[in-house]
Amino acid sequence: MRLILFGPPGCGKGTQAELVQARHGLAHLSTGDMLRAAVAAGSEIGQRAKAIMDAGDLVPDAVVIGIIAERIAQPECAAGFVLDGFPRTVAQAEALDRLLDELGIGIDRVIEMQVDDDSLVARITGRFACARCGAGYNDSFKPTRAPGRCDNCGGAEFVRRQDDTEETVRARLANYHRQTAPLLPYYRAKGVLHGIDGMASIDEVTEVVDGIVGQRRDH
Ligand code: AMP
Repeated sequence: MRLILFGPPGCGKGTQAELVQARHGLAHLSTGDMLRAAVAAGSEIGQRAKAIMDAGDLVPDAVVIGIIAERIAQPECAAGFVLDGFPRTVAQAEALDRLLDELGIGIDRVIEMQVDDDSLVARITGRFACARCGAGYNDSFKPTRAPGRCDNCGGAEFVRRQDDTEETVRARLANYHRQTAPLLPYYRAKGVLHGIDGMASIDEVTEVVDGIVGQRRDH
């Protein structure tokens, strides 16, 4: 199964991609995570990407296509993968198709998580993660069970993404509508697009995603 989780920043792609990885044994490929790791490591790509990411703009296509091409060819992806945050432009989608063509495979499903812009701003500005294990939380929607303690590992240090400010979120949303949403007709025409309600609870969304991932493809 090769799946794309598609939708605006903050729609819950990352959360659902982690669940899909755990439940269906697919490799989770998040270009945002890969770029943040490159920034943290201070690599050449990271140094080039940092200012662009902090401004909420898109990193050049050639950079993200390069990092995805490297990962898709790895053995961890042989049993299938879920793409999270890639592709984000028509050029990236076309490059992905060429890459998959060369490997003799294709995208089976694209799941678009639909959430309105104002809810996204509330979701994104409230999110934080455990500094130790990476478990994700949200001030309003998913606080830790015990204040200041990670539910998963008990850690007491938390981090917020530098690009999760309201100003940057608005820029990221504008980029989504301008550059990424135009991919929807591209995948609709291929017959692989499924639109789902991303405003439902995490468990409800997971159930719908599970149903789509488990479905036989009949076209
Ligand atoms: P994300 O974690 O998916 O929200 O990505 C965080 C930031 O990384 C984005 O705002 C972009 O600056 C950059 N980024 C991640 N994926 C891509 C991509 N496919 N194309 C261009 N920039 C990306």
